[in-house]
Amino acid sequence: MTSVQRMKRFRLPAVLLWGLAGCATLPEDSRPQAADSVCLYNRDLGCVRLRVDSTTPRAVYKGKTYYFCADACREDFEREPEKYVSALLASKYGQAQ
Ligand SMILES: [Zn+2]
Repeated sequence: MTSVQRMKRFRLPAVLLWGLAGCATLPEDSRPQAADSVCLYNRDLGCVRLRVDSTTPRAVYKGKTYYFCADACREDFEREPEKYVSALLASKYGQAQ
């Protein structure tokens, strides 16, 4: 066995353990989840789920707070909130909220 092969054998498990430990302690994991109703409506599914923190764009509509991945989504929402709220309520994300 060469020295390179020996290093690979030992490195892989160490990286996996480090990754698991890192995930469990990341403070980001405690942020509440929300769904971006504008991205949901636009079928931009990669951006629908987001983590809420103090910098997350948000809008209040009929006493409920909605969160967005970007200010552009928030502006679209404020133009036609009913359209996006209906899309959210019709989705699986609407059931959870
Ligand atoms: Zn968005």
